[in-house]
Amino acid sequence: MSEIHLKLDKVHRQYGQGDTSVRVLEDADLEVRGGEMVAIVAPSGAGKSTLLHISGLLERPQSGEVEIVGTPTSKLNERGRTMLRRDTIGYVYQFHHLLPEFSALENVVLPQMIRGVDKADAEKRGHELLELLGVGPRALHRPAELSGGEQQRVAIARAAANHPRIILADEPTGNLDPATSDMVFQALTGLIQEEGVAALIATHNHDLARRADRIVTLRDGKVETMTL
Ligand code: ADP
Ligand code: MG
Repeated sequence: MSEIHLKLDKVHRQYGQGDTSVRVLEDADLEVRGGEMVAIVAPSGAGKSTLLHISGLLERPQSGEVEIVGTPTSKLNERGRTMLRRDTIGYVYQFHHLLPEFSALENVVLPQMIRGVDKADAEKRGHELLELLGVGPRALHRPAELSGGEQQRVAIARAAANHPRIILADEPTGNLDPATSDMVFQALTGLIQEEGVAALIATHNHDLARRADRIVTLRDGKVETMTL
């Protein structure tokens, strides 16, 4: 069994206080190992995005611990959290959020150069990832010249650019037709296996969720195993 890349231990997250407070996560526990893909399927408003934000160190829980590749994060300051996030986590959103002025390749190269990778190495990695995701021939096109499925595969390549240990994806195919969703999901699965990344993916698509190694849902703020 490979190592645990993401661990949530008794995570509690509520919004607001008193009578109007919403308890989204209560004693939520989860472990995701390298090379494992876990799908979260739950109704809108159940807390999927909250769980992903907390896993991605974009939000803090009120209590509980989030461990990223064995590092507990509750006592880290903002700078420590930001550095750990940059070093270990790749995020994919429902809408690609690619930089419109730059080519697909540049969108994958820039985050690496920001991290200090030299241009030639960043381009090599960029080409490899775009190839792996089946968008190699589109490397020099800008996002507006790409289809929705291609844009999303470039966004996945960008999330993977700096060798993250965890990929978090929030309804990455929510905006795509079924055939395109299928292709994007397949590309994501290939990447996770190839690179041994732990992946947590929120999706409404049951057919896609069934292809994950494990399916979980959120019930009363807890993460529970689910069969579809
Ligand atoms: P999902 O992604 O499953 O649709 P979310 O995690 O976005 O669910 O939201 C879970 C619940 O938390 C919802 O009731 C939502 O209204 C509430 N919520 C999310 N973010 C905030 C916030 N920043 N302030 C107040 N309530 C929020
Ligand atoms: Mg959401």
